Amino acid sequence: MAYVISDDCIACGTCIDECPVGAISEGDKYVINPDLCTECGTCASVCPNEAISLPE
Ligand code: SF4
Ligand code: SF4
Repeated sequence: MAYVISDDCIACGTCIDECPVGAISEGDKYVINPDLCTECGTCASVCPNEAISLPE
């Protein structure tokens, strides 16, 4: 399991520098590499648009 970024991403860039393992990539919508994400939750806590969550 890994956190995922939804279509609510506004590409603000806040999350990318907060990920301790470099799992987040830039783009029109940012993307989390599920092979690298350790589920720490830091990115979800800093996203201003609540675009990052664990899939159900
Ligand atoms: S949950 Fe943690 S490890 Fe996973 S992408 Fe977010 S900041 Fe990175
Ligand atoms: S912090 Fe949220 S809105 Fe900003 S780039 Fe990351 S996922 Fe997108």
